Amino acid sequence: MKLMPTCEHASNRLPAAFKKAIPADVQQTHRAYDIGALQVFRKLVKFAKPEFHCEGNFSRLFVDLNRTITNKSAFSKYYDELETRNKPAAEKAKAQATKYWTEYRTAIEKFIASSLSQPKRVAKSAPTIVHLGIHSFTPMLNGKVRNTDIGILYDPSRPAERQLAQVIKAEIKRLHPEMKVRFNYPYKGISDGLTTALRKKFGPQYAGLEIEINQKFFL
Ligand SMILES: [Zn+2]
Repeated sequence: MKLMPTCEHASNRLPAAFKKAIPADVQQTHRAYDIGALQVFRKLVKFAKPEFHCEGNFSRLFVDLNRTITNKSAFSKYYDELETRNKPAAEKAKAQATKYWTEYRTAIEKFIASSLSQPKRVAKSAPTIVHLGIHSFTPMLNGKVRNTDIGILYDPSRPAERQLAQVIKAEIKRLHPEMKVRFNYPYKGISDGLTTALRKKFGPQYAGLEIEINQKFFL
């Protein structure tokens, strides 16, 4: 079993040409990146020393690495605004973003494919790759407080993921009994995203979970 940590929304960086299209205050908010996720991700990498890990280098406002590239929401609304003002600039940014997205996805898929081609030493039913996507969510949405500390997202129809989610929850509760942990909150584990795409591509040898941490711990 190999652990593969990733952090799609680690950064709020924007390429120089696209930076001007985004209001400065927005660049510092949860809309631009997952506040605190990179800190947790780095700790996990340092602790687990995985063979492979990767993190996003640009803001999701440039392109969302956790969306299918053909999904409209992969590109933020700022592209529309830029397009009205300067169509060639918008097209150039989108092409650059698509290239960056493709490279990110390709690196991950290459690692999984090479791991799956190696002979297995553990039980056949156990997944070869356990992917942990580290994310964070804003403590308040539309004026409502989200009353959860950590969310664990997975596909409930997949036994290995269900089991891993239980193990992770038990471990969090053991270390921090006061923490409120919920499954498939604040999002569904089966929405369009990286784990969903990888499940489809690699089947049961791959198990993908996302850890969603409340940003109140970092603000
Ligand atoms: Zn995220």
